[in-house]
Amino acid sequence: MPAGGTPVPWTEYHREVTDCLFCRIVAGEIPADVVHETDTTLAFRDIMPKAPVHVLVIPKAHHPDVAALTAADRGLAGEVLAAAAAVAEAAGLATDGYRTIFNTGPYAGQEVFHVHAHVVGGAPLGPMLMPR
Ligand code: AMP
Ligand code: ZN
Repeated sequence: MPAGGTPVPWTEYHREVTDCLFCRIVAGEIPADVVHETDTTLAFRDIMPKAPVHVLVIPKAHHPDVAALTAADRGLAGEVLAAAAAVAEAAGLATDGYRTIFNTGPYAGQEVFHVHAHVVGGAPLGPMLMPR
């Protein structure tokens, strides 16, 4: 069970992890184009890139979203951010800039409930959101 945050019953946590696409990538059960790895994080190319560079950075441990990750393990949240910066640097994005996005919940369109930072760049990205 993850430390901190709202306690999740073990059976529910086990189901969540074994069904989780990104946990299965961490376990090597599903292939991924890995670009960066540390003891606690993994970064791989998004399967449907929305920019010339589009990499997902995840903690290897399962946390559903960035709020849950930060509540459970602030140090690991920092390691994900450091990995995102390293990915951007290695991809040559640091000079011209890039965007780091954490989608959370349905209004943001979160599809995979294992926290991930999208690191996108390699071209001008346009406005962050459409004007209302
Ligand atoms: P989000 O909408 O923030 O949850 O983003 C989920 C992202 O995961 C999307 O950009 C998908 O294209 C990406 N994705 C889904 N399946 C895979 C996969 N097997 N390998 C890499 N990226 C994936
Ligand atoms: Zn997971």
